[in-house]
Amino acid sequence: MTDSHQPTTPPSAPRATLFLGPVAYPGGSGAGAVHAEMMALDAVIRSVRDLHPGWSTSQCVVGAQALITGAGSRTVHCPARPVCLKCSAVLKALGFATGSQTTWGSEAPPAADWALGDDVRALLERCDIDCGRIQALG
Ligand SMILES: [Zn+2]
Repeated sequence: MTDSHQPTTPPSAPRATLFLGPVAYPGGSGAGAVHAEMMALDAVIRSVRDLHPGWSTSQCVVGAQALITGAGSRTVHCPARPVCLKCSAVLKALGFATGSQTTWGSEAPPAADWALGDDVRALLERCDIDCGRIQALG
């Protein structure tokens, strides 16, 4: 019998966290084609939903937009590897800067390896970010 604590992902898995002011929104290591940075944006939306369980998705998206645009600082922390070109395009459009040990990358993942969840896509559209143009990068 072992009760050792097993990490859910290998320690080498790239992880990303977004900071809005002092508040961290972890994206973990992402899931499938949804990169960790985009999972972190989903975490921003979920934080609004947690506070307002009765809100519709569009209300939560408006709330998440307000959290992002109202933050005194916006940084992405992803020390394991450069942020890919597509996540970089999204985060720059939202006004994010790179945090410590984090760089904007120039590698564009193939279309099949980069995807947005429905809520994040709604958030980006609300922020006038052209998701199709970003998917076509690279
Ligand atoms: Zn990415």
